[in-house]
Amino acid sequence: MSKHILILPGDGIGPEIVDEAVKVLSAVQQKYSLDITTDSALVGGAAYDAEGDPLPESTLEKARAADAILFGSIGGPKWDAIARDKRPERGLLRLRSSLNLFANLRPAILFPQLADASSLKPEVVSGLDILIVRELTGGIYFGQPRGIREENGERVGFNTDVYSESEIRRIGKVAFELARVRGKRLCSIDKANVLEVTELWKEVISDMAKDYSDVEVSHMYVDNAAMQLVRAPKQFDVLVTGNLFGDILSDEAAMLTGSIGMLPSASLDEHRKGLYEPCHGSAPDIAGQGIANPLATIMSLAMLMRYSLDRGDVAGAIEKAVEQVLEQGLRTADIYTEGCEKVGTAAMGDAVVAAITSAAHA
Ligand code: NAD
Repeated sequence: MSKHILILPGDGIGPEIVDEAVKVLSAVQQKYSLDITTDSALVGGAAYDAEGDPLPESTLEKARAADAILFGSIGGPKWDAIARDKRPERGLLRLRSSLNLFANLRPAILFPQLADASSLKPEVVSGLDILIVRELTGGIYFGQPRGIREENGERVGFNTDVYSESEIRRIGKVAFELARVRGKRLCSIDKANVLEVTELWKEVISDMAKDYSDVEVSHMYVDNAAMQLVRAPKQFDVLVTGNLFGDILSDEAAMLTGSIGMLPSASLDEHRKGLYEPCHGSAPDIAGQGIANPLATIMSLAMLMRYSLDRGDVAGAIEKAVEQVLEQGLRTADIYTEGCEKVGTAAMGDAVVAAITSAAHA
């Protein structure tokens, strides 16, 4: 059955890195005879410049019609001073909530070839392969009431952390099912000793565990989890948590690998339609120089193949090709170490394409 992918390059290095992922898409399309159509549209600052809106209705319509979206990055100093609701980041937030992309998957994988890039000792992180599942459309980022009001002659800021049982079950199901096909261990992160909302979270996850007897479930307070992630991160397989804790812990986990240019992500709805993007931003400091690392975007494409197109074999082939180019010693500037060969964005993309093309069929 034909699948449709919408390409949203965005701003800064977005178009440069997405170009490389599109090369890889063409290579796997050809090699595996994939029936895929693509389209592209403006988003973020580029869309604001052209149409006065970071998420024009035409882009949202195309996103609704697609099976999956490959996204670059948005934002930059050029748009920092415009009205808050027109800023590029608002476009992305609106896209995620309009498509109900409630499940954010952030793998933190450290290729053994890059163990020296981490700020932690190589033996603590080498071979790291964990997955953080973060609830993305609820919790304190969206809860009402919220605001800043006057009270007793001073300003008071307030937000509401709220999760319904159905929201917890929905994200819990995604996490349990992913744990089932990985290392069969799930750690749920909460602050149940202080916050009632996470007391409910813990109760619901514990209740769900009865239906997943093949998955070993544990619970951890968020402060301990933050500590354990830098002390002994390989103890984890899949972690599941709410929006706020997930935001912080997934950035912490990402940095264990020492290379933001290597980290992909997926945001999925209930039917596995997804938006796939690198974890990093638009890197305005290096945009236009042809030196950005395209591998996070290329591995986001691999996640797209696995989760939205059900082609784990193609995803595996892309990931293997990435590992192969690292093994060959090719490095973009952000992951370069002495003795390796420094290459630019396009050369890195070409090397991944060559590795895919020359590999035996998976
Ligand atoms: P950033 O991730 O863009 O950059 C942080 C640092 O990492 C920079 O030094 C940058 O050069 C480097 N870097 C990032 N990606 C890289 C890559 N692929 N290859 C090599 N080096 C890379 O974060 P920032 O500087 O805080 O934000 C810049 C802009 O990006 C801001 O406007 C911010 O709002 C936006 N942003 C967008 C997203 C998104 O599109 N999802 C996410 C985060 C930040």
